[in-house]
Amino acid sequence: MSVLVLGGAGYIGSHAVYQLIDQGDSVIIVDNLETGHREAVHPEALFYEGDMRDINFLRSIFEKESIDAVIHFAANSLVGESMENPLKYFDNNVYGTQVLLKVMVEHDVKIIVFSSTAATYGEPKAVPITETVPTNPTNAYGETKLTMEKLMKWTELAHGIKYVSLRYFNVAGARETAEIGEDHHPETHLIPIILQTALKQRSHITIFGEDYDTPDGTCIRDYIHVEDLINAHLLALNYLKDGGNSDVFNLGSSQGFSVKEMIGTARAITGKDIPAEIGPRRAGDPSILIASSEKAKQVLGWKPTRTSITKIMEDAWKWHSARPEGYKKEVGK
Ligand code: UDP
Repeated sequence: MSVLVLGGAGYIGSHAVYQLIDQGDSVIIVDNLETGHREAVHPEALFYEGDMRDINFLRSIFEKESIDAVIHFAANSLVGESMENPLKYFDNNVYGTQVLLKVMVEHDVKIIVFSSTAATYGEPKAVPITETVPTNPTNAYGETKLTMEKLMKWTELAHGIKYVSLRYFNVAGARETAEIGEDHHPETHLIPIILQTALKQRSHITIFGEDYDTPDGTCIRDYIHVEDLINAHLLALNYLKDGGNSDVFNLGSSQGFSVKEMIGTARAITGKDIPAEIGPRRAGDPSILIASSEKAKQVLGWKPTRTSITKIMEDAWKWHSARPEGYKKEVGK
């Protein structure tokens, strides 16, 4: 199969490209390198640098290349930034998807797998969260992803494009070989920050709140290994190719770990002390997010195999200790 991967130079997208190429697919990447890295581009993928909102650029790729299916990762994804600059998020995430769908309709490409988020649910009333829980995003990022899902729904009705939307919980870890991994600027995610502290690039990690209604007072999240997550995308592509209906699936490990437990795990794996300080809560953080991923298991046949936080932390540590400065920095970034 020939797959167009939007955002294939990013953290999650690059892991998808590697797995697609591992299984013998050919891959075309589109990425504007705003948050992606040229070095994360798989050497065997065809790479087009550019912005998917530029319709003529995107059209030229659909004209030149034969494309059987699309996986769409290209989006801004920082909750805090989305609250300060919502229009940037609607422009990049929603308008970008609108352009993509338009070009897919023009070129009769009928399959898309798309990255969505647990942020579409907002503050949950109960855990684990199933796909039937009403969506009620509490930040602009989650709202843009929900809007993208709605774009897909109406485009399917009008034009028959089939989609699978995958709602991610906390994605972490790296490819076992440490060839690629997580490198964000600025970094806001828990595991990279913990490991940068282990590497002494930060003096300490600040725990955002110790007064939540959880056993140790810190927030609980469901961490899923990026390689398991990507495996679900490949299954979703096959599911759609085999005539499956458009649908939405949660992807998580169905287990919750507190911030303190994550720091404890990192101390055990790295053998470093990792100083931690308690700070105020971060605005918009729900206390507990845990997925039910039963639907993905039953319908897609998904079998995550790297579900322990030890495995996630070990692979993340391999990457961060092999590449303490991350990818080479491109000029101007
Ligand atoms: N967190 C923290 N300190 C940090 C970064 C994150 O205590 O420096 C907490 C955050 O409040 C949340 C959890 O770690 O409860 C995971 O945060 P992250 O930003 O990685 O993912 P999110 O859950 O926001 O998608």
